[in-house]
Amino acid sequence: MVTDDIRKSFSKIVDRVKSMDPVNVREWFDQLSVLNFDGGTLVIGCPDKSIVQFLEDNCLASFTQAAQAITGYLVTVEFKQHVSEPKEIGDPTSLTSFRLNPDLTFKNFVVGPANRLAHASCVAVSNSPGDTYNPLFLYGSVGLGKTHLLHAICYEFQVSNPNVRISFLTCEDFVNRFIKAIEEGTISTFQQQFRNVDILIIDDVQFLHGREGSQEEFFHTFNALYDNNKQIVLSADCAPSEIKSLEERLVSRFKWGLVARIDPPSYETRIAIVQKKAHLRGLDISDEIAEYIASKVKANIRELEGALTTLYAMAQACGEEISLELAKEAFGQEPESHRDITISDITKIVTEHYDVRLADLQSKNRSQSIALPRQICMYLARKLTNHSLEEIGGHLGGRDHTTVMHAFSKIEKLIQTDENRKAQIQELTEIIKNHK
Ligand code: ADP
Ligand code: MG
Repeated sequence: MVTDDIRKSFSKIVDRVKSMDPVNVREWFDQLSVLNFDGGTLVIGCPDKSIVQFLEDNCLASFTQAAQAITGYLVTVEFKQHVSEPKEIGDPTSLTSFRLNPDLTFKNFVVGPANRLAHASCVAVSNSPGDTYNPLFLYGSVGLGKTHLLHAICYEFQVSNPNVRISFLTCEDFVNRFIKAIEEGTISTFQQQFRNVDILIIDDVQFLHGREGSQEEFFHTFNALYDNNKQIVLSADCAPSEIKSLEERLVSRFKWGLVARIDPPSYETRIAIVQKKAHLRGLDISDEIAEYIASKVKANIRELEGALTTLYAMAQACGEEISLELAKEAFGQEPESHRDITISDITKIVTEHYDVRLADLQSKNRSQSIALPRQICMYLARKLTNHSLEEIGGHLGGRDHTTVMHAFSKIEKLIQTDENRKAQIQELTEIIKNHK
């Protein structure tokens, strides 16, 4: 039995977690309740399954500690969905490589001009899978919300129609499972599994690049599902035709339905996103601070979120309220002189460094010795200036914005995987900043 005393203690436990573990606090913490407290086990009731998973993954330790501190007993904590789970047909989750994240819903997605089409098409797919846009192909640079939208589709089904068999996985996972199936001689089981789903969602299909065997298998899976009116949703960091060495027949199939591009968000959308993310954490931040953060982080929303987390952690550590001063401190004040870097400053330093001419960068020459410095210019221009993708492309030989976006994600990946390049690009960044 859950007595009033237990309920009171529980609200103290939640308060304690909020102060101990601020990064993981969510506005839905108020919807948690005690289902049972018996034999040293505190069972906490959660509104849905993804919330159970979120808490298990992120908050088990803090709830356990808080429960022990408040009750004075050695308590074990369990999270459980309020209502019993609906019966599932088959085992739809076994093909899903993600735990659904309750942060990544449509409700928490801010819609703006840059992502309106992608958002609307994902909502349409959730309302009538297989009917409207099939396949739906989302693309855009890193951190612009592709994975978020895919989670939101799954989340929608989990809530409204849990019997739909969804398979949601990264392309890398698809490829790995395929390879394993070949090695273990279980290819027909593999095929059966994928061809029996109602909705197939694959994230980051650019991973198919250069993997002929997997492309072939993917092609057959695609056809089998498509022919049966099953919904297919795909995402990539570039348009279908820009995925390198992707077979033409796959490129053309990816374009059969709707191809929706996501662009970097405008300043206004970025402000709304900062506010949304703050709200999600149960935080109130002033417009002034949201505007400041939005003006600092432009290209990648993941960085926006990281900035907010840093700020929050700093405020906790210093025992201060979140203020504009603290926000400025969190970002490290950039000297005034860095503010007005131009694309010409960037091309000047990069061409000197790589010993190439500006005319080469602007030419159609695609040899690596020219293409790399050109892409680095695009990357740095995106990072260090306020120019739009179109303007940057215009400066570098009239290239369109998708080329700039592609260059940006390519260099960003290079930085993640190649220490030497990373150092080189950092050095160039410093030279450009100091040059002003
Ligand atoms: P991608 O898959 O395109 O690289 P993600 O979907 O992982 O990007 O998004 C990165 C982060 O940015 C996530 O935390 C996501 O919630 C957030 N995000 C991106 N776009 C939006 C948006 N329009 N509204 C709210 N959050 C967003
Ligand atoms: Mg992603």
